[in-house]
Amino acid sequence: MKETIVQLMQNEAPVIGDGGYLIELERRGYVDSGSGRERVGTGRGSGQFTPEVVVENPDALRELHREFLHAGSRVLQALTFFATREKLSRAGYGRQTEEINVAAVRLAKEVAGERALVAGSVSRTQLFEREGSGAATHVHDLLTEQIRLLADAGVDFLLLETFFHLEEMVIGLECARASGLPTLATMSFRPTLRASSDGHSPEECAKRMADAGAAAVGANCEQEPSRIVPLVRAMGAAAGVAVAVQPAAFRTSAETPCFTKMPQFPDELETIQVARRDFEEFGRRAVEHRFGFVGGCCGCNAAYIRALAAGIAAP
Ligand SMILES: [Zn+2]
Repeated sequence: MKETIVQLMQNEAPVIGDGGYLIELERRGYVDSGSGRERVGTGRGSGQFTPEVVVENPDALRELHREFLHAGSRVLQALTFFATREKLSRAGYGRQTEEINVAAVRLAKEVAGERALVAGSVSRTQLFEREGSGAATHVHDLLTEQIRLLADAGVDFLLLETFFHLEEMVIGLECARASGLPTLATMSFRPTLRASSDGHSPEECAKRMADAGAAAVGANCEQEPSRIVPLVRAMGAAAGVAVAVQPAAFRTSAETPCFTKMPQFPDELETIQVARRDFEEFGRRAVEHRFGFVGGCCGCNAAYIRALAAGIAAP
């Protein structure tokens, strides 16, 4: 029997995840960034960066899962990011919501076998950015549906990630708790590192997420390792639970500490890519600071996870 994510974080931390699926598969030509039709990253776009690759080109996704596993990932994320019914509907895939979520879990489990855990990825719906707090009930319904699909398909745990609003994250954690699955929770801080989009400090976010049942709390996406590590250390200290962190692999600046607000997003990202060696250093910091769960996010691929694993192995 496989250890749970909570046991793994206790016994073998930092547990190495994966990450960066959508941007990597966009580069490989299997995911639509939407940039040909609209200015993406504004929160107002329609169907960009949705995971229909799961059913349209499953071999491409299977291969990327294999690469991460080979690189040292102990957790594979099912590619269910942005796969709520509403987001998929905006992209024209709403009727395949169940098919996409179920197939994503099946595919990740097939590759993982007994060698890795499978996490169900649950992201913000984008409705808080579009409609504000009035979207809360709709968001609750959408996340409840997706989490039920992921639980029924057999994920080992849930990874709530890339939430901009703490209020939406807390709703997500409520839905997660009802599933009975262990849950890791990471916010994304944009446009400032000082507060979530609804004005809560990282420390406050961390405490609220831990109180809402998250087994580990932290941040993912938007910042490179050197900028995100101090942020999540503060969060972990405030919450008193394990830290989960999945940095982006893009260079940001003090003025713009989030890559999706950089002018290079999404069609010139190669020009702000950080070196994989930065992820080796990130691995050393993860050991030093006893992080529970580490992976990558946008801009990462298997080379970065391999570097991360090397940093962890030789701190
Ligand atoms: Zn990301």
